[in-house]
Amino acid sequence: MSAPAESVRAIRDDVATGRRSAVDVCTAALARIDAANPRLNAFNTVAAEGALSAAAAVDRHRAAGEPPGPLAGVPIAIKDNLCVRGMRTTASSKILDAFVPPYDATVVRHLERAGAVILGKTNCDEFAMGSSNENSAYGPVRNPWAPDRTPGGSSGGSAAAVAARLVPCALGSDTGGSIRQPAAFCGIVGVKPTYGRVSRYGLLAFASSLDQIGPMTRNVADAALVLSVIAGQDVADATSAPEPVPDFSEGLDLGVRGLRIGVPRAFIGSGVDDQVLGAFEAAVDRFREAGATIVDVALPNAAAAIPAYYLVCTAEASSNLARYDGVRYGHRPVLAPDDTLQTLYDRTRDEGFGPEVKRRIMLGTYVLSAGYYDAYYLKAQQVRTLLKREYEQAFERADVIAMPTSPTPPFRLGEKAADPLQMYLTDVFTVSANLAGLPAVSVPCGFTADTLPIGLQLTGRHFDEATLLRAAAAYEAATDWATRAPPLG
Ligand code: GLN
Repeated sequence: MSAPAESVRAIRDDVATGRRSAVDVCTAALARIDAANPRLNAFNTVAAEGALSAAAAVDRHRAAGEPPGPLAGVPIAIKDNLCVRGMRTTASSKILDAFVPPYDATVVRHLERAGAVILGKTNCDEFAMGSSNENSAYGPVRNPWAPDRTPGGSSGGSAAAVAARLVPCALGSDTGGSIRQPAAFCGIVGVKPTYGRVSRYGLLAFASSLDQIGPMTRNVADAALVLSVIAGQDVADATSAPEPVPDFSEGLDLGVRGLRIGVPRAFIGSGVDDQVLGAFEAAVDRFREAGATIVDVALPNAAAAIPAYYLVCTAEASSNLARYDGVRYGHRPVLAPDDTLQTLYDRTRDEGFGPEVKRRIMLGTYVLSAGYYDAYYLKAQQVRTLLKREYEQAFERADVIAMPTSPTPPFRLGEKAADPLQMYLTDVFTVSANLAGLPAVSVPCGFTADTLPIGLQLTGRHFDEATLLRAAAAYEAATDWATRAPPLG
């Protein structure tokens, strides 16, 4: 497959062969960020100096005859809940406003070893809790396709930066859809790998049994390449799996002839926007035309995924966020001499956390408390087990399962911000992949009449990202959605 201009692969090829220097590529990306970021608010931190010196090092190594890495000179942005050594990392929370991690996330180390150049940290919902990027302490991100719309969340800054062509790739994290839904809303590709495929070391934890890190790019082949670089077992993350990592770039052009694409019709039926449904049905037709067999699959308990997800993720968040106490790092309030340690904790958390994070800590503490644990948390875990089984059965009939990524196109900033429940319901199609630990991808599958992007979600079997990406690449090759650029960049 030939690489589109300014793709991850095109830049890597240019830098590796000396057609362009990594410093030139980096300088151009920094200029685009300078011009567009005041409008988009996609970056919390731009690390120009560090990026330029990393790019210069890539050029020096090339000049010295060292083999260029698979991402030589590729500018990459990192969601602001991933630690980069020496680079301010806030999770878009006031509580970590001045936090500068003394270590790199494992994914960041992998990227740098592959020759990538880290440009900065992208805006997101606070601690990745949200679906619109409006829960950021640093203000919302604007959708490059329509400035009055949300880019989705929680990895909204990463999605906007890639869609607006500021960088060819950004990393996101996905606990219940935070890579896939913003990818859908911004018209790009986003991959949530299988739970355990990518090390979570250095990711500021939200819900540890659901969190995964993945690439956001403008095409499937770029996502496959970056996934190959960041995947693999890691001694620093006990949940990372000892599965061999194939070269995900191989086999992308095999097509879908002989593949069975499962469609859970009964689940997709209600509450989906007409234009989204139309684009989805057209995508299913494309698969059929390309030689895939379309089969019906049942996920009878999929509608229970939202309540189960919001019980499990809040329970885990309430535990994970207990560490932000003002003692070790982050925001610390000014105390009077006779204030107690308890006052330090109370004021730190009251001043540092935003309203959605507080809501989730309270909800999570509640569902874990004696007397409610069995009724809520345990029930949610049982639903989770049921869902896993239903997917296993569905994967006996299908190789890949297709759904819309989001039930609606990108909504207006402010439209759902005052109603948390409405916001939670937008995650209806994405959370079950996290509950079941399955890999899933969102690929562009059309536009509304107002030119707002629509995403198609494909879900695969555990550790079968290869088949998943092959199906996504076949769909992409049969359409031209991924080549269109938004007006705002
Ligand atoms: N929107 C979901 C939530 O608010 C998912 C977030 C995520 O994947 N980080 O929890």
